[in-house]
Amino acid sequence: MEAAKPLDAIIIGAGFSGLSAGLKLKEAGQSFLILEARDRVGGRVKPGQIAGQVIDLGGMWTCDNQPRLMSLINQHGLKAYPTYLEGHALVELMGKTTKCPREDFAPALPLFAKLDYARLEGRLKRLIDSVDPASPQYSDPALDAMSFGEWIRRNVKAQGLALMLTLITRSVFCAEPDQISLLNWLTYLKAGGGLDRMIAAEPGGAQHLLIEGGLHQLADQIAAKLVDHICLEAPAQRVTWNSDGVTVATPIGEFKAKKLIIALAPPMANQIHFDPPLPHARDAIHQRMPMGAVIKVWIAYDRPFWRDAGLNAFLASDAAAFSPCFDCSPPDGPGLIAGFFDASEASIWSAKTTAERREEVLGLLTKHLGQQAAHPIDYVENDWTTESWSRGCYGAYAPPGLMSRFGNAVRAPVGSIHWAGTETATEWTGYVDGALQAGERAALEIIAQSS
Ligand SMILES: Cc1cc2nc3c(=O)[nH]c(=O)nc-3n(C[C@H](O)[C@H](O)[C@H](O)COP(=O)(O)OP(=O)(O)OC[C@H]3O[C@@H](n4cnc5c(N)ncnc54)[C@H](O)[C@@H]3O)c2cc1C
Repeated sequence: MEAAKPLDAIIIGAGFSGLSAGLKLKEAGQSFLILEARDRVGGRVKPGQIAGQVIDLGGMWTCDNQPRLMSLINQHGLKAYPTYLEGHALVELMGKTTKCPREDFAPALPLFAKLDYARLEGRLKRLIDSVDPASPQYSDPALDAMSFGEWIRRNVKAQGLALMLTLITRSVFCAEPDQISLLNWLTYLKAGGGLDRMIAAEPGGAQHLLIEGGLHQLADQIAAKLVDHICLEAPAQRVTWNSDGVTVATPIGEFKAKKLIIALAPPMANQIHFDPPLPHARDAIHQRMPMGAVIKVWIAYDRPFWRDAGLNAFLASDAAAFSPCFDCSPPDGPGLIAGFFDASEASIWSAKTTAERREEVLGLLTKHLGQQAAHPIDYVENDWTTESWSRGCYGAYAPPGLMSRFGNAVRAPVGSIHWAGTETATEWTGYVDGALQAGERAALEIIAQSS
């Protein structure tokens, strides 16, 4: 396919960010094309199947505090159900497993760790309040000079609290505290409404709602509205640009437009050749923000047998490679547990076989949920580190020294190129809701310039 005359815009990437940009451009009557490398839309939100049930192998949860995503879910008639939390969670910390009500891990913290958290909670909150996800470059540069791991070493006295903050960081960022700048850790939490909201599966928390039949359906339904605008299996390889327009080269042809939206995570944009090269600040972001590492695993049982023992299958452990996991059983369906190999554990376990990972997962579940856990009816996994159009997940993070120097380039257009993708969001950065916000913002930038 070759466009005869320049389009108003090209969007690279048909994840939720590219799709939301497309919806806005369509609403504004612009001519545009979305170029997608994969043979499907949705990007980091991906369908799968386990025991005859359709599931999400990538992003899946939402909550009432994510207004953009919830509004689309409602508009498209999709139904949400809560993550099952009745009964007790099991939290393993420093060799001891504690039964905690619902998902409250506080009872698992030794007394000294609780006191230490009480001492530090206000300080952490003040630090989070001090940063602005829209302009991290104006934060105290000292926050960007150290990793969150270094902050833990300097400030946290109780080993139990240090381990808990490490577990939380792994499951929120899919990276180790030593890999992430303190400033990035703080802005990310601020964008998601704070630590409590981001780690919660209770109402309002980021892990509260699942979508019957999977969140990926929403990407397909949006794509159906944009069907004449989407080109699958069309990876952008080269972008030639100036202030008047762009030419995007793909294996199926070249496309010209007045404007370009790049709706990709920075390391994915780094795979595209830019001619002329991008300004240094923008290129630095592409070069220096790596993706986190995660392997998502689903395990199916005839029924959620753990509930008989008053458990909700929420497990978190500082000793296990597979942590955390949740009861994600659909209403009236089989018993489904979804969980993660995160951060360095994902890197280590990615090098092993599916059989080895399955044994590790079932060993952990059997230890905590009982012998029935050893006999699932199905097991499915998705290693995001091996997906060549994502190269890791959930998202890209900033190591120390990046955001304070180059934070001003995260959203700043370069000539005719505008930036989307969840990594450029100022609310729910790293989440689907953030992807939607970023896509809309980039589309509105273009619409504003064309009128
Ligand atoms: C295991 C896992 C669990 C997650 N859990 C949640 C969750 O529960 N809730 C939540 O809100 N978020 C979650 N996330 C994060 C969420 O999925 C992402 O934040 C969101 O999907 C990102 O959307 P995006 O459009 O910004 O990027 P992407 O989804 O990455 O979209 C980018 C698109 O660009 C394409 N592409 C890449 N390179 C090129 C190229 N050169 N040319 C053309 N196309 C290209 C890709 O194929 C992709 O389709 C999770 C992610 C993972 C992987």
